[in-house]
Amino acid sequence: MRIVLLGAPGSGKGTQSQRLIERHGVPQISTGDLLRAAVKAGTPLGVHAKAIMDAGKLVDDATMLGIIRERLAKPDARKGFILDGFPRTIAQAEGLTRLLDELGTPLEAVVLMDVDYGKLVRRISGRRSCTHCGRVFNIHTAPPPAGGCCEAPHLVQRPDDKEETVAKRLAVYDEQTKPLVAHYAAQGLLRMIDADADPEEVTHRLEAALAERSGEGMRVEETQG
Ligand code: AMP
Repeated sequence: MRIVLLGAPGSGKGTQSQRLIERHGVPQISTGDLLRAAVKAGTPLGVHAKAIMDAGKLVDDATMLGIIRERLAKPDARKGFILDGFPRTIAQAEGLTRLLDELGTPLEAVVLMDVDYGKLVRRISGRRSCTHCGRVFNIHTAPPPAGGCCEAPHLVQRPDDKEETVAKRLAVYDEQTKPLVAHYAAQGLLRMIDADADPEEVTHRLEAALAERSGEGMRVEETQG
């Protein structure tokens, strides 16, 4: 399985990636997680990325392509991958195609997870993660267990999940990432699912979309709007 999960912030890419890795035994590659780990570790990459992330903007394409090249070279990615949060611009998509061509492992599908914008803000602002194990909850839709998560539970909100930054991230998605829908539709790789449902149902729709025969990708005019 070599796929991209495409969708606005809060559309459930991370949650669904987690569910797919269990079922398919391939790694989730989340560029947001890789950047957050670099910020936490205080590496030069983390120092470079922190202010950009906190402002809801995108880290530059050359840096992101470098990160992906390095990650895809790791042995666990040989059996496949689920890309979550990458690519986010046309330049990243083109770079990814070149990189995968070099490796002889082209993408099999790109799934657009469609959720109404109004609902995204609520989803994102409700998101909390456990500082101990990293598990993500949602105080509105998927609350943590009554006793909390882990032994010393500390649920925190990502700095860029604050409401003022969320609006910026959605605008950036519209301007820079949404064009990827037409880009991948033109290549016959795009599938679209309605991701406004409980996680179990969304996984079901995702698996059904992935089971479609390749070459049956959606036409551009069906996916715009
Ligand atoms: P995410 O966890 O995917 O929402 O990413 C969090 C933040 O990390 C984004 O708002 C960006 O600042 C940065 N980021 C993650 N992935 C990328 C990417 N592919 N290109 C540029 N910036 C990224």
